[in-house]
Amino acid sequence: MTIIVTGGAGFIGSNFIFHMLDKYPDYRIVCLDCLTYAGNLSTLESVMENPNFRFVKESITDREAVYKLFEEEHPDMVVNFAAESHVDRSIENPEVFLDTNIKGTAVLMDACRKYGIKRYHQVSTDEVYGDLPLDRPDLFFTEETPIHTSSPYSSSKAGADLLVLAYHRTYGLPVTISRCSNNYGPYHFPEKLIPLMIANALNDKPLPVYGKGENVRDWLYVEDHCKAIDLIIHNGRVGEVYNIGGHNEMKNIDIVKIICKELGKPESLITYVTDRKGHDMRYAIDPTKIHNELGWLPETKFADGIKKTIQWYLDNKEWWENIISGEYQNYYEKMYGNR
Ligand code: NAD
Repeated sequence: MTIIVTGGAGFIGSNFIFHMLDKYPDYRIVCLDCLTYAGNLSTLESVMENPNFRFVKESITDREAVYKLFEEEHPDMVVNFAAESHVDRSIENPEVFLDTNIKGTAVLMDACRKYGIKRYHQVSTDEVYGDLPLDRPDLFFTEETPIHTSSPYSSSKAGADLLVLAYHRTYGLPVTISRCSNNYGPYHFPEKLIPLMIANALNDKPLPVYGKGENVRDWLYVEDHCKAIDLIIHNGRVGEVYNIGGHNEMKNIDIVKIICKELGKPESLITYVTDRKGHDMRYAIDPTKIHNELGWLPETKFADGIKKTIQWYLDNKEWWENIISGEYQNYYEKMYGNR
């Protein structure tokens, strides 16, 4: 079995590669990643020498390079994690989101059509459903919830999802889609809420929280997401969408307070900043389908997962310090000023 994993030098893709190489010693995993600001080859250091692993630095938007890779590797499956993934950046510059998230998805699927594939899996997000009101805790996103996006990021992911379903219907491509809630865990790029707060707190820097921090997200430990995708690509029904969520809704502000407490830092570091434009209020996933069909359940409780995550950032300072001391600094200053 050969699987092309795109975006494997990023957060979730790298965790997925570790999971797959560990669980399936006879699988060949080929990582296709063009190493944008969010991709980091040092993340994959521990598997670079693994004979079952190959890294290829190319873009999923480069048709020629993608076709060449298919001719070399004859993949059985493609799992597409590659994306521009940060909502704030999509508000600043939507274009690259359309290129990578939509056009890149089409190029990958065209290669699958041309060379044949057992499964194309699209890693999508609960953000395609838009948001839910804070005063209706009874509402959840199911796979039947209409697509109703808020940001250029979520719109580009929704566009890709529609294209994936269209390739299934029109060309009979054997596809599956997963829509997951917010992930957290090791190798998470420090522009995202949890690693940003951990890194800033460790450096005694202000903790910038959007608006009043009331926005609610459903947090899932990254390993649980990887296990869900593993189940879907092996046992999921072709043409189906599966929601993945942790039943673990938390307000942003409460997450930040937990991080302060775990690190022994004062809550006075918390600074409220101007809210994100079009900020979604609440995401909440109903994962009944994947539970009933594939037996998946989240295994990591948030209280344990956040401790493990914080410990990882303490043990791997070099990894994130290298990132925040580089080009990322300019982005940070643009977003939050020189604090
Ligand atoms: P990430 O930003 O950490 O990593 C993205 C990776 O894709 C990087 O390694 C980057 O170099 C690579 N990439 C970007 N453009 C590329 C291109 N044109 N060609 C090849 N590689 C390219 O993202 P992540 O948080 O790991 O998210 C992975 C996927 O999961 C995305 O599709 C995202 O939409 C989805 N998702 C993320 C979350 C979350 O909480 N992080 C939740 C649900 C779904």
